[in-house]
Amino acid sequence: MSGPVKEVSCPECGGCDFTGVQYGRGAGVNEPLHPCHVDGVSEWRCNGCGTRVGRWSGRVLAKDEHESPYDGEHGKDCPLRTPTPAQA
Ligand SMILES: [Zn+2]
Ligand SMILES: [Zn+2]
Repeated sequence: MSGPVKEVSCPECGGCDFTGVQYGRGAGVNEPLHPCHVDGVSEWRCNGCGTRVGRWSGRVLAKDEHESPYDGEHGKDCPLRTPTPAQA
């Protein structure tokens, strides 16, 4: 084992050449850290066709989507987080 390896082929083009993407900061140093940042790869980007696949979910991610690292839930400041019902 030497670092994370994507074993599954691309669901779109069948290619096996992926780049691991870590959710970090934006383009600038002053950009806030990604709300779903984890230390390591969160998604795999196919080098053949650009399809993005979630590391844990294995799902193809839409353009405005990203992988949710916390048991399928997004970070607390993430706009994609499912609103939690208010405690009664
Ligand atoms: Zn592909
Ligand atoms: Zn998120």
